[in-house]
Amino acid sequence: MAQSSIEWTEMTWNPTTGCTKVSQGCKFCYAEIMSKRLQAMGVEKYKDNFEVRTHESALKTPYTWKKSKVVFVNSMSDLFHEQIPLEFIKKVFKVMNENPQHVFQVLTKRAERLLELHKELKWSHNIWMGVSVEEQKVENRIDYLRKTNARVKFLSLEPLIGALPNLNLENIDWVIVGGESGHTPRPMDADWVIDLQEQCEKADVAFFFKQWGGKNKKKNGRELNGRTYDEMPEIELQHSV
Ligand code: SF4
Repeated sequence: MAQSSIEWTEMTWNPTTGCTKVSQGCKFCYAEIMSKRLQAMGVEKYKDNFEVRTHESALKTPYTWKKSKVVFVNSMSDLFHEQIPLEFIKKVFKVMNENPQHVFQVLTKRAERLLELHKELKWSHNIWMGVSVEEQKVENRIDYLRKTNARVKFLSLEPLIGALPNLNLENIDWVIVGGESGHTPRPMDADWVIDLQEQCEKADVAFFFKQWGGKNKKKNGRELNGRTYDEMPEIELQHSV
């Protein structure tokens, strides 16, 4: 568990680590780079670098947080990775179900497996389920997400590497958009972002613009149309589980 610099969350919690690449959005995977660094630093959890691992001991952590948190689950992995057994995913969900004072944001690129397993899982109000969509080619992930029983559904359109002109936003509660950063970022066209903001406004979907990205993401900032967009779904904690 660590404080997070990610703009749309407060903390990260990683009951699993490691992953394998599935699509273009994975090209410069931040989790892979970080895992290597943490392994070199001798951090036990990352001794196997980016191999998929489950961590039973991490399951206790959310019970120890004193104040309500907004938590990004598995910033260093993908909970629906094919190597993570359903039994362990159920354990992670049990922890989230038993901690309704926190919001848990789960994000996957394995939308097909998410749909396959969703009926086995208990979707309390405090679980926000999202899929990453970086380009049109993988837009079908949204259809899988839409069919699940998740109460709050969101899209992470980051790193956005292509236009998404006809998004079906039916039953989607939240959209996050961001450009790629790092040494060799793929460009994000301003017109794609403006179009997505307009699509969200039209469909009455909360819109969060995370960053323009690029080689100097600090300098490029996160303003669009002369303002920032920090919309989020309403947090309902008191009626959870
Ligand atoms: S799915 Fe996510 S964590 Fe896994 S390789 Fe791709 S970007 Fe990295």
